Amino acid sequence: MQQQANEVADLCARVRRFVDEVAIPAESPAIARDVEALDRTVARLRQQAREAGLYAPQLPPHLGGLGLGWRDLAQVLEEAGRGFLGPAALHCAAPDQPNMLTLLHLGTSAQQARYLEPLAQATQRACFAMTEPGPGAGSDPSMLRTRADRRNGRWVLRGHKKFISGGVGANFALVLARADEGPTLFLVPADTPGYRVARDIGMVTGYQIGGHAEIFLDDCEVPDDAVLGVPGQGLAHAQLRLEPARLLHCMRYIGRARRALACAREYVVQRVSFGSRLADLQQVQAMVADSYIELHASRLMTLECASRMDEGLSVKQHSAMAKVFVSETVNRVADRAVQMMGALGMSEDSPVAMIWQELRPFRIYDGANELHRATLARRLLSNYPSREGDTHGER
Ligand SMILES: Cc1cc2nc3c(=O)[nH]c(=O)nc-3n(C[C@H](O)[C@H](O)[C@H](O)COP(=O)(O)OP(=O)(O)OC[C@H]3O[C@@H](n4cnc5c(N)ncnc54)[C@H](O)[C@@H]3O)c2cc1C
Repeated sequence: MQQQANEVADLCARVRRFVDEVAIPAESPAIARDVEALDRTVARLRQQAREAGLYAPQLPPHLGGLGLGWRDLAQVLEEAGRGFLGPAALHCAAPDQPNMLTLLHLGTSAQQARYLEPLAQATQRACFAMTEPGPGAGSDPSMLRTRADRRNGRWVLRGHKKFISGGVGANFALVLARADEGPTLFLVPADTPGYRVARDIGMVTGYQIGGHAEIFLDDCEVPDDAVLGVPGQGLAHAQLRLEPARLLHCMRYIGRARRALACAREYVVQRVSFGSRLADLQQVQAMVADSYIELHASRLMTLECASRMDEGLSVKQHSAMAKVFVSETVNRVADRAVQMMGALGMSEDSPVAMIWQELRPFRIYDGANELHRATLARRLLSNYPSREGDTHGER
């Protein structure tokens, strides 16, 4: 056990060094929103991560990964997440990381050979297309409008998807569409006639491989074996993907917020105002201490949820609670870092401004925080007081 803890500590130290010496030096505002430049940079970094023995910590060894459990992964991803390019370099960034997990759990052996293996090797990229413009699916997936109809033993997909991370240049998409059986997941190669990436939607975030695409499916025909999982079970399958996906974001973003706090600490110990260092002012000290305490609490929640996943326990509620708490914490930490650093914290001369921008949408995607709160409250308030021995509502 101790040996294993030492191994994880050693791996974290190697990832930290890689991020400091390789991934962070490759960052540049000039590539942050340039999809092609990002692809080239990440391909180069991935090769270096492979050579350093750090590639794909989450994947099983038979797919070329390090085969870490969730709790160990939480520590490694926090280190990787300090850099904008760290997770992509290690091939543990969204959307490919949760896409690989989905294929691992739901894919047939033929689907795994065709789609999962090239993803694991990073010779291909994929995206996950669920969200639609109004009046289609957003927070409420029951509003799904993209249709999938059977025709001559094949499926014909028609619909419009929006804000699809990684969609520009993706080789294939996991598309949620409504069939007669109910919402169903499909694997759709990007070269299928009728599949069209209309544009990269400008987003406040940066360093997203494949940007955020608007995609049209116009009579897009795929064979029967394009169904991923069971027809009609698409929402349950999407949920299966989302639970680990949001926890993985927590892991990476704790690292990102930690970096923002480190930048602010570096600034306040040097900067002098009205005759004293900023670090000697109580209001600044409170911002530093609160950020440190809240990141610690975020880490513990994330680790507890990861431990449950290692034990095979349900994390439906735990991953939602962690997502709400961590997403709001990392936003507060980044916001305080900006405040402590004044104009520098709002500029491209420091990574803090981009961290602040990048973290904001985390309160919206992977289920808006309001939705998670509503679901949790409904659960806590239904059938209350609970049956004897049932602790829900108390812990
Ligand atoms: C950076 C980024 C990346 C994304 N990547 C992807 C992707 O790869 N694939 C994909 O399919 N989608 C993606 N999305 C879309 C994301 O999943 C949706 O934004 C999210 O599901 C919310 O849907 P919506 O934007 O339509 O907001 P709406 O559903 O219109 O909701 C807007 C706001 O209303 C509030 N609200 C909604 N419902 C309730 C409720 N029941 N109770 C209380 N308040 C409520 C919330 O505050 C919510 O933020 C991405 C979004 C962003 C910002």
